[in-house]
Amino acid sequence: MKAMVLEKISSIEEKPLKLVDMPRPIPEQNQILVKVSTCGICHTELDEIEGRVAPSEFPMILGHEIVGEVEKLGMGAGKFKNGDRVGIAWINWACGRCAFCLKGEENLCDAAKWTGKDSHGGYAQYTVISEDFAYPIPERFTAVKAAPLLCAGVIGYRALRLSGMEDGTVLGLYGFGASAHIVIQVAKYKYPDGKVFVFTRPGQKEHQELARKLGADWIVATGDTPPEKLNCAIDFTPVGEPVRQALRNLQKGGRVVINAIRKVTPIPELDYTEHLWYEKEVKSVANLTRKDAQEFLPLAAKIPIVPETQEFKLEEANEALILLKEGRMRGAGVLKMTE
Ligand SMILES: [Zn+2]
Ligand SMILES: [Zn+2]
Repeated sequence: MKAMVLEKISSIEEKPLKLVDMPRPIPEQNQILVKVSTCGICHTELDEIEGRVAPSEFPMILGHEIVGEVEKLGMGAGKFKNGDRVGIAWINWACGRCAFCLKGEENLCDAAKWTGKDSHGGYAQYTVISEDFAYPIPERFTAVKAAPLLCAGVIGYRALRLSGMEDGTVLGLYGFGASAHIVIQVAKYKYPDGKVFVFTRPGQKEHQELARKLGADWIVATGDTPPEKLNCAIDFTPVGEPVRQALRNLQKGGRVVINAIRKVTPIPELDYTEHLWYEKEVKSVANLTRKDAQEFLPLAAKIPIVPETQEFKLEEANEALILLKEGRMRGAGVLKMTE
């Protein structure tokens, strides 16, 4: 099979993902072999490539928003049959026995494995996964439109839940890429009387246009003061400053949720009175549980979520990730496999 592999930590500008031919994986006990149709492109790949979240071994096939068809069942696997369409997300395996797993917080499992970091992912024509960590893909979605739902969508959904948004309140979204453009659609559906304010980098005209099209109530540059205080906010940016901005704009008792696995710049010093007093909270969102995916995918079909996608060929993964790093990806990038 063809795969784009990462052999060592590098800057993305050096185009470190290499196209190679390698043997197809063989499904082990309870695993399924999946013929990959599409794989979404996530900012976490940049964190992996550039070493902020290093893969546990090399070479590694990145990619954790995988849509494909079951091609072969390993011994003992029986939840799916050949030809079924499945999705694979960032959570690749969890122990099921630690204190976190037992509480339903497998996203925090100490022994968990992550797709495309600890186990080969979807920047390839085939992959394997335990059948317990694969999800049926609702028929409504094409493989291209389903891919971004698996991380940008599911983790955005988790972040929205953690934000504590209620109907009639104001949600601020900092950064408007793959995840935020899905979250706004969920927020508008679940909280029709709520408002969504979108904060982007000043020059991001395309992101601002997309936010307008998706019903944003106010669109400003990060650093500007919104017309009303935010009851809650989600920060999707890879940098530190928007966290401070969001806290400054927060209503008393409000919460900022940080939806990022790493920040490339530090969160600047906070002033207690201005940024935290009055019971303001900051919380990060880490990974996802299978339950998040199982809840979100049918909801996404019901709303229905319409992801904005930009397609690339497998061998264009480096270029696509450079676009993402530069903030020039409109919506979500998706790699589409060819025969
Ligand atoms: Zn991701
Ligand atoms: Zn565990």
